[in-house]
Amino acid sequence: MEEVHQYIHTQRHLDRIQDAYTLAYQAHQGALRKSGEPYILHPVQVALLLAEMRIDADGIIAALLHDVVEDTNLTLDELQTRFGPAVATIVDGVTKFAVLSQGPSFDKKRAHAETVRKLFAAMAQEPRVIALKVADRLHNMRTLDAMSVAHQQKTARETREIYIPLARRLGMSLALAELEDLALLYLEPEVYATLAQEVAAEVPRRLLSLNEIGQFLESSLSQTGIAVTIQAQQKHLASIRRKVAHLLQHGSEHWLHQIHDLISLDIIVETDDQCYLALGQLHACWRPKDGGIKDFIATPKLNGYQALHTTVFGPHNSLVEIHIYTRDMLRLAHYGLASYWYLRERYHKVGLQQGAYASWWISYREMTNWMEQLRQWQRALPQSTGEFLAAFQDDLFQKQVFVFTPAGNVIDLPRGATPLDLAYRLGSDIGDHCAGARITTRNQEGLLVTRLAPLDYELKEGDIVDILSQPDVTPNHEWLSFAHTAAARNKIRHALKLETPIDDQKCSKEAKSEQAITGAKSITLCIHANDRAGLLRDVADLLTRTRLNILSLNSETTHGQALLTVVVQPSTPKQGLSFLTPLLHDLCTIKGVIQVQQQGEKEEHHETL
Ligand code: MN
Repeated sequence: MEEVHQYIHTQRHLDRIQDAYTLAYQAHQGALRKSGEPYILHPVQVALLLAEMRIDADGIIAALLHDVVEDTNLTLDELQTRFGPAVATIVDGVTKFAVLSQGPSFDKKRAHAETVRKLFAAMAQEPRVIALKVADRLHNMRTLDAMSVAHQQKTARETREIYIPLARRLGMSLALAELEDLALLYLEPEVYATLAQEVAAEVPRRLLSLNEIGQFLESSLSQTGIAVTIQAQQKHLASIRRKVAHLLQHGSEHWLHQIHDLISLDIIVETDDQCYLALGQLHACWRPKDGGIKDFIATPKLNGYQALHTTVFGPHNSLVEIHIYTRDMLRLAHYGLASYWYLRERYHKVGLQQGAYASWWISYREMTNWMEQLRQWQRALPQSTGEFLAAFQDDLFQKQVFVFTPAGNVIDLPRGATPLDLAYRLGSDIGDHCAGARITTRNQEGLLVTRLAPLDYELKEGDIVDILSQPDVTPNHEWLSFAHTAAARNKIRHALKLETPIDDQKCSKEAKSEQAITGAKSITLCIHANDRAGLLRDVADLLTRTRLNILSLNSETTHGQALLTVVVQPSTPKQGLSFLTPLLHDLCTIKGVIQVQQQGEKEEHHETL
């Protein structure tokens, strides 16, 4: 109740929460947990976790009552009459998953798939179900030692399979860290013990330089009248372990010394401006490591995360990672999507006018956009269980790359995604007529270059991607091998009118053999031109109008002279080479083009691209 009082002030809501507590207390009376404690402690602890996340009154009430329908005589209808439809919906959502994972008649994989699917559907419609589910699991994991070994193993494995990826994707980092460590403790106790010991021995050495930086910042910032809180943040064991595994794979010893963010420093200030001020103070004294500065305030992560990150060469030859937050940002960093209610509350209080430029408002907007995208995404997905599960794990839980649209919007895609995936993300119309993309990316020397990329180009973090579309381009079977996301593949199939879903692997094999026929010959053209804006686009437009697949297109510019090297391929085998002469002629009519040469023909296969 104390925690709740800090942010819920309406007497009606406080009364309802009190009422829910009394009801839960009576309903669970006499019941004990395996540990011997009264059962009521469990829902109360779960409610407390939600209160820390600042979830609204209905969420807290649902947490207090989340086990009553399953374990006692109370029914959903009674809950609905007493506490309203929202509470009943949340409790219903949570209860369903529990039943599913226990049903013995289900075969295992199917039950798992169904659970994940339901969780996902609930997340899109009622995110409080997920916050509650994660909190419920967290408290069960915390109290797992009272259970039988078999039960411990089963619960910990399930946590790894479902709840950890979920917490990660939703940005609930506090819950994630604890769940991961507890799963490690139960599933690999020896690993856990060794690691904990080694880390504990290393920590004091690290704290030395951290304290020095902390004290410096505290005094220099307080001189300018800025209140600052500084906390050392230790990386959690499961995450250290992942990094160690990676380092050992690359044959390095002394792994602990190489994890420079074993402990990082969190700097918490009051306003957005002060974040940048603190960063300035910091860099004035300690040299930042090149490439270590990230401004997630200007460009928040998709789940709304904001902060400034930097790594500096600290005292005693140490590299120190530092994160700078406001309190709102820290809340988001800790609870991720579960901060939604907190931010919504702020929005109601402050209103849009004053909030429009504040970082919390940007986060809130990102978050609502993301939830909307989840809803759309869910509608676009195949409904058969096996496929759904594969798609879910592929698209949602894989590592993400962030790319930009030319207007500067950030879009996240799973690693391995291509321009085709992005085009379909932007809309079916754009996807169905996607002819390629103009990409601004960093080359090996770190310079920004713009070039045309084929449909199977693998998008890189930070690429600016301008999708080129052509009205007469339409999806073909090959596209199924270029598209990486299930959502895009699904839309392509739909466009190809493939009513029955085809096994993906078979599909891409077919597509490859098809390509092997058409791809027997590719042609390289060198185009010399006076460089001008729009030259690339005009060339690409002409090539796609001629029904050629562009396999690659590079441009080099020196002193205003552009040399474009294009590799193209007829899109159908029948086309032959008859197109070549008119094409060369047409290319020369493009404004700025001086000369077009054809390089020697050579055999080319898709794999060698
Ligand atoms: Mn429970």
